Amino acid sequence: MEFNTIIEPFKIHSVAPIAMTTENQRNRYIEDAGYNLFSLHSDDVLIDLLTDSGTGAMSRNQWAAIQHGDESYAGSPSWLIFKEAVQNLFPFEHVIPTHQGRAAEKILFTAIGGEGKVIPSNTHFDTTRANIEYSKARAVDLVIAEGRDPANLHPFKGNMDLVALEKFINETGVENIPVVMMTITNNSGGGQPVSLENLRGVSQICKRYSIPFFLDACRFAENAWFIKEREAGQSNRDVADIVREIASLADGMTMSAKKDPLGNIGGWLALNDEELASTCRNLLILTEGFPTYGGLAGRDLEALAVGLTEVISHDYLKYRIRSTAYLGNALAKIGIPVVQPIGGHAVYIDAKAFLPHIAPLEYPGQSLAVELYRVGGIRGCEIGTVMFGRQPDGSEVPAAMELVRLAIPRRTYTQSHIDYVIEVCEEVARRASSFRGYVITKEPAALRHFTSEFAPL
Ligand SMILES: *Cc1c(COP(=O)(O)O)cnc(C)c1O
Repeated sequence: MEFNTIIEPFKIHSVAPIAMTTENQRNRYIEDAGYNLFSLHSDDVLIDLLTDSGTGAMSRNQWAAIQHGDESYAGSPSWLIFKEAVQNLFPFEHVIPTHQGRAAEKILFTAIGGEGKVIPSNTHFDTTRANIEYSKARAVDLVIAEGRDPANLHPFKGNMDLVALEKFINETGVENIPVVMMTITNNSGGGQPVSLENLRGVSQICKRYSIPFFLDACRFAENAWFIKEREAGQSNRDVADIVREIASLADGMTMSAKKDPLGNIGGWLALNDEELASTCRNLLILTEGFPTYGGLAGRDLEALAVGLTEVISHDYLKYRIRSTAYLGNALAKIGIPVVQPIGGHAVYIDAKAFLPHIAPLEYPGQSLAVELYRVGGIRGCEIGTVMFGRQPDGSEVPAAMELVRLAIPRRTYTQSHIDYVIEVCEEVARRASSFRGYVITKEPAALRHFTSEFAPL
């Protein structure tokens, strides 16, 4: 008998308090924060859905592993435990530990990027794009057309457009493409998965042209679960087996261990090429640390090794993906437009459709994010014109989509927390026609969404 209620496949072992606040208090806090949710004190947030990065709860076995951590500078046993756990799923020759994902990206693109180089992906995550562009290379997104349409129900909206990839390679020239990347799941595209068939297709094209193929594998387990659930012929496979097949298609990977490896910090770069690994290790020593700890303490390495065994549990993944869909489907049911199908780690509200009376340059996503906080103390993240609107030439252009992301931290909130979020969203929907836009009153030179200040119109 299969029941509908999603019970968390864990019980609470250690708790952190949530301080209750009133709408009046929150009105003051958000005004004091210049209407920027990044400027709030997190103690003043009831349900924090700003990001799923590093915000998950570790298990008792991970905390126990922290005690087992060995802090030897070189050759620590904790390093060997970590390396084995990574290679168990991703059997690349060389594993290079970093303090988080962007450090792995920085090292990789310092080694292989540079002027004249172009790096295609389904969709580059923002730190990946920034690190590519900082090296003076160009980042190109080649996701399938369905992946750009919020309402399209394609089961693998993270897929690469294989025809476009091959055309791109022929036009750009193999010598200018140091690597092809694939982000699994496609974070910037709504946490949408990539099919195994598509990964095989990209791998074949890369082999045919002798271009290395790297994964940005932050949410590899969530992606593998979607493959198991949605792809023909995959339903009887073990997730670990699917992950190993994905790894076997690639030549290397960058990783943020703050996502699926269930850590609060960490990352790695892994690859097969001996010479490139040696270049990367030399860069690692400059900015991160000695190759057997990189940017991490021995205890972090041990916690991640345990996290890698827990995240591939079918019970965990079933709960994880179902509980994200539970929130998304409930919002859709009460008439709030959300990106479909619901992704793995977050629900994305389409603020353009939800608040059609607010013009894109008056930031409908920011308005919605502020109201979610005011009404219910929920912190989401605007992913729209505030984040992407300012152009390198100084002009301001509306973003392609005006989204508010509600990212779900791993193993952190219970179904009653999520039921509360749904109830708050219902009230927000009732008040929606009264919401107004914003102007930016103070703006930094770059990455304005983090520190800008706003005023209501
Ligand atoms: C988070 C993330 C990164 C960057 O990792 P950090 O640990 O935040 O530096 C890269 N790619 C994707 C897809 C991510 O989600």
